Amino acid sequence: MSSVMTLRSSRKTLCGWGRYPVQTCYVYCPRSESEIIHLLKSGLPLIARGNGRAYGDSAFNREATLQMSHFNRLLEFNPQTGQLIAEAGVLLAEILEIFVPRGWFPLITPGTKFVTVGGMIAADVHGKNHHKDGSFVHSLDWLDLLTTEGKIYRCSPLENRDLFYWTVGGMGLTGVILRAAFRLRPIETAWIRQTTHIAKNLDEAIDLFEAAQAATYSVAWIDCLASGAHLGRSVVMLGEHATREELPAKYQQRPLRTPRRRRLSIVMDFPNGALNSLTVRAFNQLYFLNSQRQAGQSFVDWETFFYPLDSLLGWNRIYGRRGFVQFQCVLPLSAAREGLSALLHCTSAAATGSFLAVLKKLGHSQGYLSFPMAGYTLALDFPMSQRTLKVLDQLEEIALGYGGRFYLAKDSHLTPMRLRQSDSRVETFVQVRNAHQWRVHFASEQSKRLKL
Ligand SMILES: Cc1cc2nc3c(=O)[nH]c(=O)nc-3n(C[C@H](O)[C@H](O)[C@H](O)COP(=O)(O)OP(=O)(O)OC[C@H]3O[C@@H](n4cnc5c(N)ncnc54)[C@H](O)[C@@H]3O)c2cc1C
Repeated sequence: MSSVMTLRSSRKTLCGWGRYPVQTCYVYCPRSESEIIHLLKSGLPLIARGNGRAYGDSAFNREATLQMSHFNRLLEFNPQTGQLIAEAGVLLAEILEIFVPRGWFPLITPGTKFVTVGGMIAADVHGKNHHKDGSFVHSLDWLDLLTTEGKIYRCSPLENRDLFYWTVGGMGLTGVILRAAFRLRPIETAWIRQTTHIAKNLDEAIDLFEAAQAATYSVAWIDCLASGAHLGRSVVMLGEHATREELPAKYQQRPLRTPRRRRLSIVMDFPNGALNSLTVRAFNQLYFLNSQRQAGQSFVDWETFFYPLDSLLGWNRIYGRRGFVQFQCVLPLSAAREGLSALLHCTSAAATGSFLAVLKKLGHSQGYLSFPMAGYTLALDFPMSQRTLKVLDQLEEIALGYGGRFYLAKDSHLTPMRLRQSDSRVETFVQVRNAHQWRVHFASEQSKRLKL
């Protein structure tokens, strides 16, 4: 146990959602801004941590990890504008629980609701509607940032603009986000009108996305073990918030209520290797057949549409003790078909078994270091092994060759050189970090690895 003024720390083993890498860290749980300021003054490089849903090493640091869970209050809601002011440690799940039954939904949401407001801002998360509504920053009115010298800045597109756009997508490396104001959208029902299409291969999948520009939400699950003429065969799902009139009669009485979903918990690690090319192939076959039966239009509740994985609590344990890694890149539109095809060839040939492979269309982004750019993003999960590390090297090289960029919230493997080759904004970020002394005060294991 060590103590910095009044704030005490404990030593904990931390990791990201992928459970790789793992690090013993000094963890502080501040209850007030002044406790964070004391810690800053001690000179330790620190990093804020939300709910640890980033996959790799971005949300911890050996010297001082700041667990933000005490910053958990909803401060204000304006029903005229839909603006919600919340502290950084509030979970999206808590916001949904309160606001969905009252007819409000986040403008932007990632694929899990177990993330904090601070985490969504720091990664500038995108959802299935990025091509239409942009990333989290598009719903963000302002944020309060505690940074070097213990000063708190209100940042917005109009006030402290550069600090705002470096912080959004800046992975906690500009300071500690304390609270923020962002907008929710009004909804008539808690249901999504989903249209499911089956694509025989990658070309068909991309054609479906291109034809669905007007759809609010679009996402594809790809069977990444399929090869040959079936390379990239996918289930493409489009979605719209259903109006009350559209709903089947049985849901119209209480349109903002949905049946409680059964939740399963995985409480122990699966054996290493339980997910291999055979089990993944079997899973993919079943999923594909099931989706074929459901092709066409259906009404699904918001949790099933937006957060299918959240119904299996602790699903990251399926990958065993060694954990897993996610590879996520975005390729520019012009290179997408060829580049995605090369990435899928590599994955299919490696046959290490990525049972989660997700394709989305992205638009432009505003954050100075935000991940999205106009193009297609592919996310693949792999069980951790020496072989996986080699596959990641290959995938990263392929993505670089097609002008791709990598998502830091998913990364645990990039090298400083590959990151810089992929994104010319990184060097400017490092210069700004030096100029503002952020580099001295804010660091994660990821920022050390990537020399940010
Ligand atoms: C199943 C699953 C699905 C996902 N789907 C998507 C998706 O569709 N789209 C997408 O964009 N992302 C997605 N993600 C990634 C996830 O949304 C981001 O990693 C998000 O940042 C996690 O939030 P968190 O609160 O858990 O933050 P953490 O993982 O704890 O931290 C993530 C980053 O935010 C910083 N941070 C956290 N709180 C603060 C704060 N108060 N001040 C400053 N910095 C802070 C941390 O330093 C770190 O750099 C998914 C993750 C999972 C596990």
